[in-house]
Amino acid sequence: MLSNSIVELDRAHLVHPVASWRGHEKAGARLLVSAKGATVTDSEGRALLDGFAGLWCVNAGYGQDHIIEAATRQLRELPYATGYFGLGSEPAARLAARLADHAPGDLNHVYFSLGGSDAVDGTVRFARHYWHSKGQPQRDQFISVMHGYHGSSTVGAGLTALPAFHAGFGVPLDWQHKISSHYAYRNPVGQDDQAIIAASVAELRAKVAEIGAERVAAFYLEPIQGSGGVLVPPKGWVAAMHSVCKELEILFVADEVITGFGRTGPMFACSEEGIVPDMMTTAKGLTSGYVPMGAIFLSDHVFQIIADGAGAATVGHGQTYSAHPVSAAVGLAALDLYENGLLDNGVKMGARLLAGLRDLADHPLVGDVRGRGMLAAVELVTDKGKKTPLPAAAFPATRIFDRAWRNRLIIRAFAQGVLGYAPPLCCTEDEIDQIVERTRLTLDQTLADPDVR
Ligand code: PMP
Repeated sequence: MLSNSIVELDRAHLVHPVASWRGHEKAGARLLVSAKGATVTDSEGRALLDGFAGLWCVNAGYGQDHIIEAATRQLRELPYATGYFGLGSEPAARLAARLADHAPGDLNHVYFSLGGSDAVDGTVRFARHYWHSKGQPQRDQFISVMHGYHGSSTVGAGLTALPAFHAGFGVPLDWQHKISSHYAYRNPVGQDDQAIIAASVAELRAKVAEIGAERVAAFYLEPIQGSGGVLVPPKGWVAAMHSVCKELEILFVADEVITGFGRTGPMFACSEEGIVPDMMTTAKGLTSGYVPMGAIFLSDHVFQIIADGAGAATVGHGQTYSAHPVSAAVGLAALDLYENGLLDNGVKMGARLLAGLRDLADHPLVGDVRGRGMLAAVELVTDKGKKTPLPAAAFPATRIFDRAWRNRLIIRAFAQGVLGYAPPLCCTEDEIDQIVERTRLTLDQTLADPDVR
C-alpha cells in the first residue's frame, strides 16, 4: 500500500520535531493527506476534527481559497525578494504596515522572521543591542516564567522552561533566570487572583534584586502560557508584571506566538491586557500556518535607540527568507479573513467551547477547565481533592492522543495529563459540540484504562 511505503520512508529518513526518535522508529508516523475547514483526512481515509489547528496555528482553517489564491498569485509574480541591499517587496511592506496598525500602542516596526523560535531569538539580540546602544552593555541577564515556552533555538530554549528542551543540549542557562508561573490550579499561594498577582510581583522584584537591576536586559512572558499546559493568568497579572518592568526599567517582551491573531479573542492578547510591550513576538496565526513566517514588533522607542546606536553601521541581524513575499502575501490574505468575520466567529465559538468543556467538570477525571477564546485546557486528575495527576504508567500523552484519534478528534495531550484545545477560528457550532462530545468519550475510555488509578 502506498501509505505503508511512505510511512517506511518517513521512519527511515525523516527526523521529527519534538519527538522520541526511538519511539518514532517503533511507532512510525500517521500521515495526513488533505484538509478542509476544521477537518483533516489521514491516509486511511479517516476524517478527523482538528481541535488543535495543526500546532495552534491554522487559525483561519484549512483550504481557504482567499489565502491559496494570494499565495499562487505571488508565486507567479515574484516568488522571492531579499530584504538585503535595501531591496523589498510590496506584500512585505503592506503587511508590516497593516500589522503595525493592529498592534497595541507604538509597536510600529516589524521585523519578519521565519517562525516563532527565531523571532524570540531576534528579540534577545535586539535587547542586547538596545542596551549596548544605551551604554549599558552589562545588561545581559534575562528572566522568563516557569512552564513558559519560547521556542527551541539555542538561546530561546533557555527562556523556555520545559526540561526536555534543556537536557543534554548545553543551553546557555547561566544568564537566563525564571520566576514561578501563575498556574492557579496548582499555585502554592492558592487560587485567589490577588494573592497570585502579589506573589508574582514580589518574586519578580526579588529576582531582579538578586541579579542586580543594572544587569537585567529583559523579561519575557506569554499572555497565556501555551505549551506549559494552557495556563491562563488571573486578570491583571500581565499588567502587574508589565508595571514592575516599567518601574525597574527592564524591557518587557510579550511572546504572542500562540495568543496572536484571534486565538484568545482580539487580534493580540496584549490589547486586552491594556499594555504595550517593548517588543512582541508572533508567528503561527500570522500566516495561519500555510507557509512559515514570524514577526517581531518593536516599539518606536526600542527601534529608535537601536537605529541611533548603530548610526550608519549595519545592524547585523537577518535571514535569507526574512520578509518572504509569498509568506507576506499569505499573511495579508489571512488578515483579510480575520478582519472580516473570523475573529468574531472565534469569540463566539470560543465561548461555546469553554462552556462545553466546563460541562465536563462532573466527569470523575476532570480536575480543572480553563481557557480564553479558542484556547482551552482540561486538566485530568485521579483524585479531585488531592489533585493527583494521572500516573506516568498510564502514558497520558500518547494513550489519550491515540484514543482521541480513534474518536476522530485531534487534541494536544500533554504528558502531565492536560488536554489542550486550539481549534481553527472558522469552526461551526456543530464542530465545537463534536469536539466536546468526542472529548467526553475519550475521557470515559481513559477512565476505563486499568493503569489510571
Ligand atoms: N513562542 C511560543 C509562545 C510558542 O508557543 C512557540 C511554538 N509553539 C514558539 C515561541 C516557537 O515557535 P516555532 O515553533 O514557530 O519556532
